[in-house]
Parts: sequence; C-alpha cells; structure tokens
Amino acid sequence: MQDAPGSPLETPLTSLPGVGPERASQLERLGLRTVEDLLLHRPRRYEDRRRLASLDELVKGEPAQVTGEIIAAGIKRFARGRKSVYEFILDTGSGRLHCRWWNMPFMESKFRTGDLMAVYGKVVSLRPPTIDHPDTETIESDDADEPGESSIHLNRIVPVHPLTEGLPPRWLRVLIWQAVTRLGDKVPEPHPDVALPDLPSRADAVRMLHFPEEMDDARLARERLAMDEFIDLQLNIQGRRKKLEARAAPLPCAGDNRLIKPFAAALAFELTDAQTEALREIRADMKDGAPMRRLLQGDVGSGKTVVAAIAALTAIESGYDVALMAPTEILAEQHFANFQRWFTPLGVPVHLRTGSRKTDRAMDQPDLPIASSQLSTLTIGTHALIEDGFEAGKLGLTIIDEQHKFGVGQRERLLRKGAYPHLLVMTATPIPRTLGLTVYGDLDISTIEHMPPGRGTVRTFVRAPDRLPKVWQFIRDKLAEGRQAYIVYPRVEETENTSLRAVTKEFKRIQAELAPHQVGLLHGRLSAEEKDAVMSGFRENSIQALLATTVIEVGVDVPNATVMLVENAEQFGLAQLHQLRGRIGRGGNESFCILVAETKTEEAKQRLAILEETNDGFRIAEFDLLQRGPGELTGRDQSGETSFKFGDLRKDGRLVARARQLVKEHLRQ
Ligand code: ADP
Ligand code: MG
Repeated sequence: MQDAPGSPLETPLTSLPGVGPERASQLERLGLRTVEDLLLHRPRRYEDRRRLASLDELVKGEPAQVTGEIIAAGIKRFARGRKSVYEFILDTGSGRLHCRWWNMPFMESKFRTGDLMAVYGKVVSLRPPTIDHPDTETIESDDADEPGESSIHLNRIVPVHPLTEGLPPRWLRVLIWQAVTRLGDKVPEPHPDVALPDLPSRADAVRMLHFPEEMDDARLARERLAMDEFIDLQLNIQGRRKKLEARAAPLPCAGDNRLIKPFAAALAFELTDAQTEALREIRADMKDGAPMRRLLQGDVGSGKTVVAAIAALTAIESGYDVALMAPTEILAEQHFANFQRWFTPLGVPVHLRTGSRKTDRAMDQPDLPIASSQLSTLTIGTHALIEDGFEAGKLGLTIIDEQHKFGVGQRERLLRKGAYPHLLVMTATPIPRTLGLTVYGDLDISTIEHMPPGRGTVRTFVRAPDRLPKVWQFIRDKLAEGRQAYIVYPRVEETENTSLRAVTKEFKRIQAELAPHQVGLLHGRLSAEEKDAVMSGFRENSIQALLATTVIEVGVDVPNATVMLVENAEQFGLAQLHQLRGRIGRGGNESFCILVAETKTEEAKQRLAILEETNDGFRIAEFDLLQRGPGELTGRDQSGETSFKFGDLRKDGRLVARARQLVKEHLRQ
C-alpha cells in the first residue's frame, strides 16, 4: 500500500493492490473512492455461515442458507421459447436442494456442475426442497486450505455488501477484509470529547460492521456509526446556534405589560394553561440578552396566533419592531385583519407586505392616534418580506407562521433583515419528535398540548365516489342549519391525461348541487383582490360554501365552517389532509370531514383510515413518517439534513435524543 497525503483513510482505492481501472470504476459506481468509503460500505445483510442448515430444517416461506456442490443443471423452455426455467441441483450432504430461476436463461452460463456454492433465499417448497432466485456465491475449492481467506467467506458470519454489475461479492469482501485488518485501527474517534462508554470505539465498530463475531456485534456497530452521524449533525446545528449567540448584540425585551394588559382584557377568551406556559417560556427567552430561537408547535387550532400576538407586544413594549411572515397571501391577509383589530386600539401600527399589496399607515389606518408614530410597528407579510424593499427598522422579533412551508434558507434571510432578532417559528404540522430534534435541533421547543375549551368534535369519514349523492344531501342539510362548508379539490385546472376533477370545471355543477346557497371559488390563480373578496364573503357568511384548492390548507380560521368535503383525497399526504381538516372544528358545533377517495389498494385504504381513527396530529405524523420516510415530511429544503448512511430517523428516536443531549452538555463545557 502506498503512502498518500493526509490520513491513510483518504488513500484512493486505486492505490490498493488488485484495484485496476476497471475495478476502480465499478467501486466508483458504488460511491467508493477512498479507503474510508470502503470501510463504511454498509453490508445490506449478513449470512450466518457458522452453521449451515441441513435440509430437514428448512421451513417453507422462510429464508435459508445452504452450501453444496452442483450435481446437475438444465434449462427448460416453454410457451414457444418465450418462457424458461433454469435449475441446478445442489448436493448438500443432507439431501438435494433445487435452485430455480424463472425467465432468466442467461443464468445458465454462470454455473457449472462441480461448482461449490453457497446459496441464500426463501424456501418455496419442501417437496422437493426448492429455493427460487437465490443469492449465490461460488466457494473456491481451496478456500478451506488458505487460512486467511477461508475465514472470510466460510465458517463465520459473512457480510453481504451492496454490489454493482460485474463486481464479484467475494472480491469485494476480500478487499474490505484487507482494508479492515490493515487500516481498521487507524479509524480515529471523530468526537473524542463526547463519550459513548456503552458502545464500541469507532475503529471496533468498523470491524464489527463487516465481520461481526455475533449478530449482536453488527447491531452495536450500526448504533455506534449512527451515533457518530447524529452527533455530527447536532454539533453542526447547535454549534451554529452557539456562534450566533456569541455574535449577537443583547436584545433585552422584557416588556412592561402596558400593551399586553389591555390586550388580554379585550380578548374574548382566557388563555389556556398550555398557552400561558408557552408564553412564559417565550418571554423568559426574550428577556434574556441572547436571541431567542424557539419553535412553538401545536396542533391545528390549538391557538398559536394569540401567543404570537403577545410575544409581539412584548417586543413592541420594549421599543422594537416585529415582523411576521406567513406562507400564503390568504393567511397573511387574515393575520393582518386580526392583528389590526387587536393592535389598532392599542395604538400599535400594523403593516402588510405581500406580493400584491403593501400598506402604509396613512392609507390604511386613519384611526391611529398621532402619537403612535413614535411606536414600534408590526409588519405582516408573505415571503415578499424577504425580497428587497422591506427595511426592518429596529427589528427585535421575527415570527414565522407555518414554518414547515418555508425552508431554513428563507428563515435565515428574514433574520438577516435585522441584527439577529429574536425568532419564534410556529408550526401546526406536528412532526414526530425524532424528526423535530433533527430538523429543529437548533431550536428550543414549546408545545401547546391541549386545545382551547369549547370546541366541537370533528368526525372523519372515508367514502367511495359512488356515495357522493348522499354526501351532497348531507352538506345541503348542514347549510340549511346555518353552517358553512369547504369543498376541496386537488388541482386548479384539469391536466391532460388525468381524471382529476378540476375546480373551475366543477364550480357550476356544485352551484347547482347546493342551490340556493351561495358558493364561492378560491384558488391560487385568482388575483389578490379576487381572493380577498371571496374570503371576506365566506367569513361574513354571504358565501356558504367555499370551493377551494389547497390554498386554504394553512391557517384559515372561520369558526362557523363545520363541514369539509375533500375530493380525490387519495392524492393528498396524510399530514396535508390533517392540516386541511384543521379548518373545521374551530367553533362549538360538531364538525364533519368527508374524504371521498378511490382506494384501490388495501394500503391506500388503511392510510386514510388513520384519519378516521384519530385527530391527534402527532400520531398521524408518526404514521406518515413510517410510510413515506423523512425526506418528504420535512420538505426539500431540509431533507439534506435527514439523509444518513447508518442512522434511521424512523427508528432511532432514542439515539437522536441521546446525541442531542450529549452535544448540549459538551458545548456547555
Ligand atoms: P392555530 O394554532 O392553528 O394557529 P389559531 O391561533 O388560528 O390556531 O386559533 C384557532 C382558534 O381558536 C381561533 O379562532 C382563536 O381565536 C381561538 N382561540 C385561541 N385561543 C383560545 C382560547 N384560549 N380559548 C378559546 N378560543 C381560543
Ligand atoms: Mg395558525
């Protein structure tokens, strides 16, 4: 082995004996360039070849591994040569095993009678013992004579590595064996200050990963290597935050309650204990000089907005401006209307900044007392806030609503508008805890666990399209009782080749269906004024049913709306349906969510059934995580932080929490 600059682990594989250009390019295809890559090439499974199954131990339907000598082989063609089955028979010492490959005639050239084989696969029959499409490996007859190498492939737990076309499993296994024996102990501890006393060293873990003595070794090795990944990530996330705290000027926002008192007195309700607790945490952060970095999470309808309002007043009382960013114009407009109603009587100016509307005080708030020009302001907007033009005066607090709709990058850009202001991000998509610790690892978390009192229940039903006439009758009845309804469609315009019902096309039909009630139409392609007119009409109940796309997914709050019909519900993610459903159940009346879906498979049916079973967003998110994996849940911007070679966010909640805690303690020193 030649000396390469830097650590021996950075040695390119091309300088290992036996790795020529062809092998190197095959390894490259697997993403393996250096010795370190090779050492971390994770086996996809293991074969326990210490004790090989004897044929009378085979269980139908279970995988088994067997070795033996090929004593006969042949191919049978049928269906005029279009179909075939290639078969060889192994003499295993305890009987004959048939191995078959259907419609893979080229297998014939791979084996010869007399070859010694190890095979692994599911037993499809016991009479005669048969495995279809097994993994195979040729055992060299001199394996047993070569002391070093035979113990790599036989009489041990053997790793089965991911391969690529043309790369023999045994060759790769030997290469890895050589790397592990010669260089395995050169693998350094990446984080010597973070102790993991119950897990093997990283060097041992690498050896145990490929050549475990016991199956449990492989598990421990995987955990150790996963921990290293999680610790890396946490160091990165928490380190970033630590740097920020060191750089930021103190921003004391203790407030003095002169605005909060009258605000709370004018509220139509009392804060819940959960809201009060979240506020206590937020205000303790803001009082401190270091910038707050806090996530307020709470299920849809748990009442985050009013918590944000009080946080905003705390900053304003302390002489700082506040910015609030929401993902859609509809939601920004709704916040603008609410905050104006709340803050104008207190003399606090509220501005709006979206792609289509920018207010200034003279035009929109003629009622404000003159003296208020001294006061700090609240600016509400969409991502238009990030674009040029918006100059934050003395920005003390940035609030981001529905954070999961933004990327981390957008959040940072808004923060850069000020000099490290306090940050409060809110999300109604409760993400599973594991993922929260990862994606939001740099944030402290406050959770609103319980809904405000006086909410009617929401009942959810999944129905096939042929039940629609009954569903429409049900909605007509509810409208006649004075309630309002959302009708949600997946797309705006019917796209070619799909049978998706399109909102614009269905509008007329639904108007007829629901006459004499008024139906409004809302989708993303309308102008801001048009959207505004429809939303106001719905809010004032001059429109009783709102036919909409997912533009209403987040934030919209109309308590009298108690019915939601979602068509083509199978097109949506579970978290998204849960968000949508959060639009109803906001008043005291019982609410109904009807998901109309073509559920062709059992899996699709089960997926939607979870929404019938529970209203608990956390449970739904956990289920979604299991089904779809973390990438989709966190969105593109954040998924880079959730791809690991050894860690698995679906299962490693315990490890993630531990890594987070260890790094926290380490950085405190
Ligand atoms: P979300 O957490 O989804 O943003 P909102 O802030 O929109 O929820 O609140 C949902 C509804 O609950 C609003 O109509 C709000 O006025 C109401 N609400 C909030 N807090 C309380 C409370 N403590 N008691 C009663 N109603 C409340
Ligand atoms: Mg909200």
